[in-house]
Amino acid sequence: MKIKSVKSLEVLDSRGKPTILTTVFLEDGSTGTAMVPSGASTGTLEAHELNDNNLRRYNGFGKLKAVKNSNTRIAEALVDQNSLDQEKIDQRLIEIDGTPNKSSLGANSILAASLSVAKASASSMNTPLYEYINMTFNRMFSEKVQMSLPRPMLNIFNGGSHANNSIDIQEFMIIPSKNNDFHEGLRMSSEVYMKLKDILSNKGLSTTVGDEGGFAPDLKTNEEVIEHIIEAIEKSGYRFGEDIFLALDCAATEFFKSDKYVLEGEGKNLSTFEMIDYLEDLAKRFEIISIEDPLNENDWDGWAKITKQLKNTQVVGDDIFVTQEKLLQKGIESGAGNAILIKLNQVGTLSETLSCINLAKREGFETIVSHRSGETEDTFISDLSVGIDAKQIKTGAPARSDRTAKYNRLLVIGNEIYP
Ligand code: PGA
Ligand code: ZN
Repeated sequence: MKIKSVKSLEVLDSRGKPTILTTVFLEDGSTGTAMVPSGASTGTLEAHELNDNNLRRYNGFGKLKAVKNSNTRIAEALVDQNSLDQEKIDQRLIEIDGTPNKSSLGANSILAASLSVAKASASSMNTPLYEYINMTFNRMFSEKVQMSLPRPMLNIFNGGSHANNSIDIQEFMIIPSKNNDFHEGLRMSSEVYMKLKDILSNKGLSTTVGDEGGFAPDLKTNEEVIEHIIEAIEKSGYRFGEDIFLALDCAATEFFKSDKYVLEGEGKNLSTFEMIDYLEDLAKRFEIISIEDPLNENDWDGWAKITKQLKNTQVVGDDIFVTQEKLLQKGIESGAGNAILIKLNQVGTLSETLSCINLAKREGFETIVSHRSGETEDTFISDLSVGIDAKQIKTGAPARSDRTAKYNRLLVIGNEIYP
């Protein structure tokens, strides 16, 4: 279906910073609207988020330049194009940008256009978005990928650059067992979240939350956080390590300084080998099933070593792969990691994201679709996780509308797929 027009404007994300909203209008009257999220602990090689850098508006985070690029250069390039040809649309966007990291138009304006084209196309075909994504994926790669609801990874305790406490690890997540369907898993996780609030509150600790909705009081050590979470799981009537599991996102690049992992909260200065041993010890003692960004994003050798050493743990690459096929290929060749976090705005178009997912699937890497710490009410990632059969989704605590919007969308999808 032909694209009639593209219109963008500046809106706010969950941290109160501006982002871009784009609506694509098709000739048959269908529309699609998308908003893009924004990270705090970003990988160096992520596609470029274009900010205005005008300190008189939103401390420099205004998005008027991105909006203007969308309303002019992107609109001109997309009008009259066939919205159903997602690859061609994305290729055009990449070409008119012309830079390796999308810094001319801004990956934010490019992604908003790419996703709203997909949404408008799904609407034009009267197809749910997850099904449209599934069809697009299978057509692009001649695959027969099924659709399924993912297992949620819920970040219930925030540290690192998502909170102002002294906990160094960025995310402490709970994951319900595979044996539970999505609805049950979410219920159990939400009960644990509420129990954790009671436990913290009864100890006189703060229950205010960090950027992704997890609690963020000033506990002393990473171990202490884990012990509180286990207590919450058990007091909710669940078996830790059977009904509910634990996962971490270290976001280790954030605390890697002058060749050492500086765990300030713990008073530890660790070499790469010591950091690996520290995480191995935590993983063994607390049965942690998944660890994301355990090491600095440039330490490919360290990554290969930890992936081998923690052979029963999912080792997830976020900042190291930044959803880019070339970097994932390097990881596959060097044995760095065994799973990849998928964030659309790290690469900047839907089709490049799908290509990266396809490579991961071919090579037996697990795929985890993910939100960003700065989110909006857009729920594209929920549909993406179902459409590409991701098996796992990471989208924060079961609280705050920017996070629950994604879980709620999955509940709706679940109701459609398995009525
Ligand atoms: P970010 O954090 O969105 O701030 O990058 C999320 C993550 O590291 O997974
Ligand atoms: Zn991460």
